Amino acid sequence: MISADRAIDTILSNIDRLEIEDIDIHSAYDSVLAEDVKADIDIPPFDKSAMDGYAVRARDITSVPATLGIQNTVKAGDSVSEGVKSGLCVKIMTGAPVPSGADSVVMVEDTQIAEDGGVEILKEVEKGQNICLQGEDVKKGTVVLKRNTVIDAPEIAILSSVGKSVISVYKKPEVAIISTGNEIVEPGKPLKDGQIRNSNGPMLRSMVISLGCKSRYLGIAADTEPALRKKIRDGFKSDVLLLSGGVSMGEYDLIPKVVSDLGAKIFFHKVLVKPGKPLLFALKGKTVIFGIPGNPVSNFTTFHVFIKPALLKMMGITDFEVSLNEAIMDIDFKNRNERVHIVPSRFFFKGTELRVTPFTLNGSADIIGCSKANCLTIIEKNRGNIKKGERVKVLPLN
Ligand code: AMP
Ligand code: MG
Repeated sequence: MISADRAIDTILSNIDRLEIEDIDIHSAYDSVLAEDVKADIDIPPFDKSAMDGYAVRARDITSVPATLGIQNTVKAGDSVSEGVKSGLCVKIMTGAPVPSGADSVVMVEDTQIAEDGGVEILKEVEKGQNICLQGEDVKKGTVVLKRNTVIDAPEIAILSSVGKSVISVYKKPEVAIISTGNEIVEPGKPLKDGQIRNSNGPMLRSMVISLGCKSRYLGIAADTEPALRKKIRDGFKSDVLLLSGGVSMGEYDLIPKVVSDLGAKIFFHKVLVKPGKPLLFALKGKTVIFGIPGNPVSNFTTFHVFIKPALLKMMGITDFEVSLNEAIMDIDFKNRNERVHIVPSRFFFKGTELRVTPFTLNGSADIIGCSKANCLTIIEKNRGNIKKGERVKVLPLN
């Protein structure tokens, strides 16, 4: 039996990020970049008007109001060849290229049409105003996104603006999921005496998907060696295999035996946490295997504490730390535990203070009591009862 810290270290030091693949930017959200990306052009690519108005030469406006003739009009998307002539201006729209000769744009709100059809400039002009200069945001050749950057919405926009429609990223793991147990029945099927609905399979699947990983649900295996062997062999084809149930001390908890008979190396089986003590971690070739205790609360907490860091590392997130926040207890909480106690909880801000309410559950099967959890309170072993106002560590779920 090993500590939670040792278990996390063992997992992270025995797995690696996956290989690199090229993907279209439209499916790149939440991936981790595996290359430096440079700007292929200056941004903006030309001197661009920031306003609807008139492109002028500042020196033509020595006092206001001043009247200028309108030479022509440029719209966004036009290409301009003709420069603005002395004493004239060019009517210009936001996003349009500023014609040569012009050094400033006067916004339409600071003008009025003169009686002779020209335009009257009503406010003094500061040279350079309302023009975004070519390359002022980024110069061609600059690295705009570094390798290992997680691609969020702004990064998708950046990739688009430098013309990268296909990028190299670390592959996201494909995660096979098997629920085990003679008593387990899929939701939607009739429930006979002694049977329990499969809540873990769908829950694990949703947690896997929420990290952007691909899930491969392989259904329910009965508690027999042949049934388990068949599905587990299939699960070995994925990058990760999650097995729910069958890792405890019962006569029909066959996962450790079957997994090891099939040639997997078991790194640990049992961790000093509550719930989730029988957690198993193994490798078969490159396939990462977790045997997760079947009680739904254990499935939920062990996923967040032990499995999620592994999946994040595999998808290339290198600056990942199991980051615990300190929060202040909002209630008294009964606690007596020789193991690290992991309690589904809800945290919130009261003013600037982070407060937490751990949920009092009716045991490890009480998944209903876990609804609305947004964090886990991690209580060190042997801590005893905790009073309102005391400090505890919390692990945010998102
Ligand atoms: P086990 O880890 O197989 O000993 O299961 C522990 C408890 O969790 C038992 O009461 C099981 O019925 C229950 N359980 C196991 N698998 C699931 C599942 N997929 N969905 C809901 N409950 C489960
Ligand atoms: Mg079982």
